[in-house]
Amino acid sequence: MILAVDSDATFAGDAKGNWRFECTRCLKPVEESFRTPIEVLVPIADGHMDLTDEVRQSIALNQPMQIRCKPDCKGLCPTCGKNMNDTACGHEGVLEAPPMSLEPKAPPSKPRLSPKRGPKR
Ligand SMILES: [Zn+2]
Ligand SMILES: [Zn+2]
Repeated sequence: MILAVDSDATFAGDAKGNWRFECTRCLKPVEESFRTPIEVLVPIADGHMDLTDEVRQSIALNQPMQIRCKPDCKGLCPTCGKNMNDTACGHEGVLEAPPMSLEPKAPPSKPRLSPKRGPKR
């Protein structure tokens, strides 16, 4: 439905389409259909409206924050990086250290230069 208001137009309707995400746990591509109601005010330039930005923005607001390929996604093995939904690598449940990618790399610790004999006062 498009209502002309002076030189702007209000576009109200449903945006439909498919999300394409990566699962936040295992990074597998996920596709999910969505339908979100939108209402945007669009300036008309040269007799044509450019909906794309406005629509994209209002769709982005409705984007799910946590995307998983399935509710019980096991994610990647923190030990060997394999997708634990596909393979049982045997490391399951062994979480000794957080995945490297989530940790900022600590700079290599420099040996401290500690003078064994400081100047005496
Ligand atoms: Zn997943
Ligand atoms: Zn593993």
